[in-house]
Amino acid sequence: MSKPGPVRLYNSLTRRIDPLEPVTPGRVTIYTCGSTVYRYAHIGNLRTYLFGDLLRRVLEYLGHEVVYVKNITDVGHMRETGEDPILTAAEVEGKSPREIAEYYTAAWLADEALLNMPRADVLPKATEHIGEMIALTETLLERGLAYEVNGNVYYDVSEFPSYGRLSGQRLDHLRAGHRVDVEADKRDPEDFALWKLAEPGRLMKWPSPWGDGFPGWHIECSAMSMQYLGERFDIHTGGIDLKFPHHEDEIAQSEGATGHPVVSTWMHGEFLTLADAKMAKSAGNVIRVSDLPDKGFEPLAFRYLALTAHYRSKLDFTEDAMHAATSGLRRLRRAVAEGGTDGADVDLAADPMAGHRARFVEAISDDLGLPAALAEAHAVAGTEDLTLPQRRALLLDFDRVLGLSLETPAEEAISELPDGAAALLARRAAARAARDFATSDALREELAAMGVEVRDTPEGQVTTIRR
Ligand code: AMP
Ligand code: ZN
Repeated sequence: MSKPGPVRLYNSLTRRIDPLEPVTPGRVTIYTCGSTVYRYAHIGNLRTYLFGDLLRRVLEYLGHEVVYVKNITDVGHMRETGEDPILTAAEVEGKSPREIAEYYTAAWLADEALLNMPRADVLPKATEHIGEMIALTETLLERGLAYEVNGNVYYDVSEFPSYGRLSGQRLDHLRAGHRVDVEADKRDPEDFALWKLAEPGRLMKWPSPWGDGFPGWHIECSAMSMQYLGERFDIHTGGIDLKFPHHEDEIAQSEGATGHPVVSTWMHGEFLTLADAKMAKSAGNVIRVSDLPDKGFEPLAFRYLALTAHYRSKLDFTEDAMHAATSGLRRLRRAVAEGGTDGADVDLAADPMAGHRARFVEAISDDLGLPAALAEAHAVAGTEDLTLPQRRALLLDFDRVLGLSLETPAEEAISELPDGAAALLARRAAARAARDFATSDALREELAAMGVEVRDTPEGQVTTIRR
């Protein structure tokens, strides 16, 4: 195979766009902070996971091998009140913490499947890596970077001189602005928990050298990233709000334990905002991907919307923006459909395809310039320089990155479906992702009765409408 294409990425740590130089050339290792599984993931969370998915797809398209790890936080993401939201949800819903975690993990992955996000290579659960977290905590104690008080172990930030470098904060400023803390036994308000003593009656706890307890939130990502990707890996991603304290603390832990830099490139995705009251109203400001069909939108229109903004820019989710995304998506699908059914003999490296492809590659290689890449796809869809099969072949090639299922015929897109069918399709895709085949078969029959025939393909469900 030819050499993988070069790519430039913005690194939150250096605050520059730098060329990616993988630890092992041709093989890129990526860790993404995954969901805290005590509630449904909302479309904002999904925007951040889409950013990770696009990073992975871009690198693969450019010829890199990618190892992608995305964790599942099923313990320890403490809130400022000192509560673990998984335990709170278990209490409220009358389930065990494990049931809560399993239920919301399945729902999260089903939502990702609706957005054409293939699973990560490894989806490690925090609860299955307690031993690694304890070992890392012991190393930090041995190195004098942590201290134990009454069964709690804290990281001593004053012992890690570059603390604050990622988020651009100075320790003295952090200290001055600190609110009243529930962890009164810390030496310094900025110290953070590596291990916590279990309170009496706590449901989730593990034995440790410091007594029965549970891990702090940040230690899981240090432990699991190094476990699967090694002590030096290439890229770490997450939403912008994770920069501090989560990623700052992860750097202190991982570098503190190994004595050298662990992550080369830190990447952070900006937020999805939801100012449009009309869209937010019914769902109490939390919209799930699987709610979109009820609002008249196809989940992939949301994926399209995410492609229209650079990952480092805020993106506002509005009804108008979703309508525009739907028509943009249809335009590309129509161009693919017009190209007939084969086109396999089109040589993408020949003129005039090569020019379009070069512009697409240039866009995606430049810090994931997906808006420009999408514009290039539209240029292809509209140009007279290409034959219809050539346009089709190029767009399907671009779709390896875009992930928009462009082969889905435009006329079968959501608004052509009979009332209620889109919601059933979304539920069926979710059932399949959760491997609940009984429900998926029942939904297939319900859809057939409405005149919608469903086939399952590697790209997802394909529908044919019988009138
Ligand atoms: P959580 O499950 O709360 O740990 O959050 C999961 C991910 O979603 C994290 O990477 C957050 O940074 C990200 N996130 C939370 N809210 C938003 C939002 N409105 N837009 C984009 N990303 C978000
Ligand atoms: Zn994390």
